[in-house]
Amino acid sequence: MKRVETTCGYCGCGCGIYVNVADDDTILGITPSYNHIVSKGKLCSKGWHGYAFVRDSRRLTSPLIRQEDGTFRKASWDEALERVAEGLRGAMMGEDNTDRIGVISSARCTNEENYLMAKLARAGLKTSSVDHCARL
Ligand code: SF4
Repeated sequence: MKRVETTCGYCGCGCGIYVNVADDDTILGITPSYNHIVSKGKLCSKGWHGYAFVRDSRRLTSPLIRQEDGTFRKASWDEALERVAEGLRGAMMGEDNTDRIGVISSARCTNEENYLMAKLARAGLKTSSVDHCARL
């Protein structure tokens, strides 16, 4: 078993954890980092026990593109990103192009990542429609 020091990804608090990993890369459990400046050895129940999703069979492992009949098909990242860029370009064209785009960020991101998402939305995509999954 090896212990990998990292940051809990469940919320923006940023608690310090060790992921205990078997030789075949199976996650065996989580233990807190007792010297971590934020959490000082304490974790909430999500931090301690919330790692089953990593190997969950329902987890998406590639982008999906909705087809005309409403079903989804797997796509490469290049194709998916091109579709996103095409959609964003279309939404930003024309005179009345403000607030056609909304951006939803995540409670699992760090504050810095959420700041960058808001900056991208306001300065890059010209929208003030920015929200966060914790309000949904
Ligand atoms: S252990 Fe709990 S409080 Fe700490 S980052 Fe993870 S989810 Fe947030």
